[in-house]
Amino acid sequence: MGFVPTMGALHEGHAALALRSIAENDITVASIFVNPTQFGPGEDLAKYPRTLEADLVLLEQLGVDAVFAPTPQDIYPTPKALHIQLPLLANRYEGASRPGHFDGVALVVSKLFGLLQPTRAYLGRKDFQQTVVLRALVEELFLPVELVVVPTVREADGLALSSRNRYLSKAERQEAPLIYQGLLAAKARATLGGSVDPCLRAFRETLETGPDFRLDYAEVVDGKTLEPLSRLAPERHPILITAAYLGTTRLLDNMPLLSDGNA
Ligand code: AMP
Repeated sequence: MGFVPTMGALHEGHAALALRSIAENDITVASIFVNPTQFGPGEDLAKYPRTLEADLVLLEQLGVDAVFAPTPQDIYPTPKALHIQLPLLANRYEGASRPGHFDGVALVVSKLFGLLQPTRAYLGRKDFQQTVVLRALVEELFLPVELVVVPTVREADGLALSSRNRYLSKAERQEAPLIYQGLLAAKARATLGGSVDPCLRAFRETLETGPDFRLDYAEVVDGKTLEPLSRLAPERHPILITAAYLGTTRLLDNMPLLSDGNA
């Protein structure tokens, strides 16, 4: 069984995970659950887009065999009975900006793995830190599931697909591909063994040309451990990870700096 965990409001990025799972497994199950424990106070839990009917049509068209769409009560019958923390990986970058976010992700994914017991689970590289956190979770708990990370699906202009892109105004949507352009500029500056500084500078300067962007963080990190890097050592699989606000919408993206491919 291949498993595709999602929060719904599905797009081509989710479809890529489902199609990869269908190709590699006898049965594919998707879940749709807007997980309350991964949202912080003041975040967009209440207004997170919910499009269940359209999601079910898409998943059926793709050939997904079953959909699990539980209620919060199904998943959390005993509130706060269990708490999972991965302090080494989960408190920096996304975790610093969104305290407790990955605790909620780790908790819900543990519960979903326990309920569905998939052979493989399909995750998007777009949420890069999430893939590292969940890999650690699976390793530390000896969970019998193989994680498969799928490259980021982008719009024609480079914007990574995201359920939150629908929050963008027309003007913001036009500005949004600057993130991708900045990542490409960073990658163009990357030299084997060289300093990460020119890459980060190129990224920031590109983003600064957009009047409505506010950078949250941009770091070059080790692609396995998330340690911040100062030099582009190929054995560290350096990856630039970033989050930026465009108006009130938070956009997330990343780019491996030394490997082929821009997804
Ligand atoms: P979400 O519904 O946002 O929680 O995402 C569910 C899964 O889809 C996660 O593993 C995401 O990383 C993945 N995903 C979201 N956007 C994309 C994208 N543009 N390309 C590939 N995977 C994605």
